[in-house]
Amino acid sequence: MDCIFCKIVQGEIPSKIVYEDDAVLAFDDINPEAPVHVLVIPKKHIASFNELTAQDGELLVKIMESIQRIAILKKVDQSGYRIVNNCGADGGQTVGHLHFHIMGGREMLWPAG
Ligand code: AMP
Ligand code: ZN
Repeated sequence: MDCIFCKIVQGEIPSKIVYEDDAVLAFDDINPEAPVHVLVIPKKHIASFNELTAQDGELLVKIMESIQRIAILKKVDQSGYRIVNNCGADGGQTVGHLHFHIMGGREMLWPAG
């Protein structure tokens, strides 16, 4: 499958891995929009938030736990951070493999625009 994030999971494209377990991979965004900008993805291919089902409940808990761990690893757990999922064209999704952005290290603007 021609998916860049699946290729990162397979090690075919290099990444700066921040956290990994059996189901989840997290790596630094290649084009950071904030001092801390990490992408958290399921290792299995899920195209977008739309494709999530109740069967993914355990996976979603692992993603949430990994986000908490990464916030501590990146030292933004106390200062704060933003979790973003872009879904579909109007959501600004450019990579068709579910991912959550963790952004912090500066005050994040709101509304995001
Ligand atoms: P989105 O626009 O929500 O689909 O986010 C895709 C993100 O993936 C963007 O922030 C890109 O900078 C990031 N990205 C694309 N290719 C890579 C890569 N090879 N390694 C790390 N991040 C990437
Ligand atoms: Zn994929």
